[in-house]
Amino acid sequence: MKRNHRYILDLTDLQYKVVKLHWKVKFLRVLMGVSFSVVIALFYGIIFENIFGSPKEKLLEQQIDNYKLKYSLVGRELNSKAAALNSFRQSDDRRYRPILDMESVPESYRQAGAGGVDKFNDLMGYTNSDLIISYRSKIEELKRKANIQKESFESIKEMSAEWKYEIDHQPAISPVNVKYGISDGFRFRKVHPVLGVPRMHYGLDFHVPYGTDVYATGDGKVIESGWDSGGFGNCVVIDHGFGLQTTYGHLSKMKVSVGEKVKRGDLIGQSGSTGISSGPHLHYQIDQFGQHKNPINFFNNDITTEEFNEMIQAFESRSKLR
Ligand SMILES: [Zn+2]
Repeated sequence: MKRNHRYILDLTDLQYKVVKLHWKVKFLRVLMGVSFSVVIALFYGIIFENIFGSPKEKLLEQQIDNYKLKYSLVGRELNSKAAALNSFRQSDDRRYRPILDMESVPESYRQAGAGGVDKFNDLMGYTNSDLIISYRSKIEELKRKANIQKESFESIKEMSAEWKYEIDHQPAISPVNVKYGISDGFRFRKVHPVLGVPRMHYGLDFHVPYGTDVYATGDGKVIESGWDSGGFGNCVVIDHGFGLQTTYGHLSKMKVSVGEKVKRGDLIGQSGSTGISSGPHLHYQIDQFGQHKNPINFFNNDITTEEFNEMIQAFESRSKLR
């Protein structure tokens, strides 16, 4: 008996005979099989898609989730940058500009170039146009504000350099170690210690031992270094610009020469008792535009309030003795 053939027992002659199926029946069977498979496949397919989504949908959803995440991160980043810019602006307005005596950047200037949705026309007509435009306009605004802030900082930097120059050139420290104190101040003397006649005293006298180091009290240029016939003996005069000059009189030694540039704190000489002097001391004088200034008002850099008060008290108690 051959395989793949169907046999039937013929009861008339008790012989097995091959059953021959009509081709239509065969075709119908094949068709039914195929149809059944297709139906099962569709059935499972629909169930699978409804529960899990198609692989393509899944991929698109993931992409959308990624974009959403990226957008929210960008949004957060934009907000933190905006906050940083705002804090820069506040230190600008509240700290740097008032200290440097500068006007605030006018609001109208800060707002210049803001607004105008027309420039985002190319972003119109998409599903998320509103979102994209709001982000884009935020970015544009940040760029604009950052540029204004940069300009503002540059002008602050320039101004602070100018101020630093001026501050560095102000006579602002004591010309000798503050522990020595002051023996005679800016006042009218009824009797000059050497001349014996009434005379105005235009500087501060520091009662210091012979040979004490004397320092430039601000940056400047030496315009005199030599003998002063007016009574200051060996004398150094420094020009600080801004109309300011300092004079250091009765020196025993001069350590700088005319034309030399000095920095605040540079050694310029040593104290002595040359010229019209009753004993070792340093005569220190400040003039501005030819006017004598009281040097006591120029000590603001290197001494504490306590030291300053001590110095004033020491000076006052000595003055009372005279
Ligand atoms: Zn003096």
